[in-house]
Amino acid sequence: MEIYSDFKCHWEEALKHVRETIGDKDTYRRWIRSIVPLSYEKNTVLLGVADEFTAEWIKSNFEEVIVSSLKTVTDKTCRIKYETGHFPVCDEPECGVAVKSQDVANKVDAGLDRSNGCYNFKSFVVGPENRIAYAAAMGMVDTKSSALSANPLFIYGGSGLGKTHLIQAVANEVKNKKNGMRTEYLSCEDLLNQYVEAIRTNRHHGFRNRFRKVNYLLIDDIHFLAKTEKLQEEFFNTFNSIYNENNKIILTSDKRPSEIHGLESRLVSRFSSGLTVEIEPFGEETRLAILRKKQEKQEIKFDDDILAFIARNIYSDVRVLEGALFRLVVYSSIDNCRMTVDLAKKILNDYLEQQSAKRVNIEAVQKAVAEFYDLRISDLTGRNRSSNIAVPRMVAMYLSRKFTEHSLPKIGEAFSKNHATVLHAFRKIEKDRVKSEKMNRLVSQIERKLHAG
Ligand code: ADP
Ligand code: MG
Repeated sequence: MEIYSDFKCHWEEALKHVRETIGDKDTYRRWIRSIVPLSYEKNTVLLGVADEFTAEWIKSNFEEVIVSSLKTVTDKTCRIKYETGHFPVCDEPECGVAVKSQDVANKVDAGLDRSNGCYNFKSFVVGPENRIAYAAAMGMVDTKSSALSANPLFIYGGSGLGKTHLIQAVANEVKNKKNGMRTEYLSCEDLLNQYVEAIRTNRHHGFRNRFRKVNYLLIDDIHFLAKTEKLQEEFFNTFNSIYNENNKIILTSDKRPSEIHGLESRLVSRFSSGLTVEIEPFGEETRLAILRKKQEKQEIKFDDDILAFIARNIYSDVRVLEGALFRLVVYSSIDNCRMTVDLAKKILNDYLEQQSAKRVNIEAVQKAVAEFYDLRISDLTGRNRSSNIAVPRMVAMYLSRKFTEHSLPKIGEAFSKNHATVLHAFRKIEKDRVKSEKMNRLVSQIERKLHAG
């Protein structure tokens, strides 16, 4: 076995290469600096990471660059293995000391701030899908100048759409203002763990005091609350006491309050009593803006046609977009080649396959359109010509032509129409989208729902 301190030195040295390759400081800190080097034995490097997700992420996005950086330093090609349950003590660059999760839980209990410094308002890209959520979150910090400082603020939306980023931006902003405001930011799972621990160790009183006497209570993924009745009861009282003191509460969730299964109705009504805003799945333009932002800090920059290619073809959440972008960064830094759209297509092949597996069919279009306009599918496929049905029908034909591989006659068949009618509908909606901002917004909204499902 190599001597551990040797390995530590090699690891630190290799990290310099990794950092140069990745370029983006935030990414480096979030993903690479959080790795805990554990051992180097028989050409196998064991790395400690927080959880399975992180292991998978590092493996698919950064493993190649780690291996090649270690080779530069040690002149050996190693294999990498991961062990979950390890966290660095802090995220300062010099700090690489390993601790197991239990130690972290203790630190958290002692009041360690878990929010991530790089999640701030500046690095948050605003588009039509998250505009209101963004303004409302800003409004919570600057309560004097904003009409949008409703209490509580409840932000919901699918995974990877920036809820954690936004709520932590508030935590960081309040902290940076240093005006003596007391903030508690934590995930609902952490809250649950700490509650259980407080009960177990007879420190219920301390737990209560800690959360009820804050100026800002920020809880991420509040839907986890539905798991336990006892915590719901406790949280109900916490909520009331913060609210009655005019202090602020921000909650995030994957669903709106009324859709959280198992959440007590008195909490549903409390959570809905302020401002409830959705972050919607991102359209192509916002995806492109996010990619541009993410590459700002990177050394390797791609032409806009590469970014546009990713934005057009990967319609998943931002984590997947980031993954695709970083994979291109890693490949081009290793091969030192000029990135082209054709090459990107090859490198991102598996991402693109996953997307096309999700590709929409005519039934999915009909379902999405019917749901959106509150109609039945049979209305879309029937003969009724009244305009409140004719327009949605044309939109459905338009989307079927745009997003499925089917021919005009085949689409016509699905709507009991001929191919000329489909073509007419397609051209009409295409024109209307250009002419009318409202129509454009409406169709974009259906498109987003379609791709999110
Ligand atoms: P959620 O909590 O909704 O699942 P996160 O906040 O964890 O999503 O976001 C996932 C990743 O996407 C993070 O790296 C985050 O910085 C990034 N991200 C999401 N939305 C945006 C945005 N509007 N601008 C910049 N980055 C974003
Ligand atoms: Mg989150």
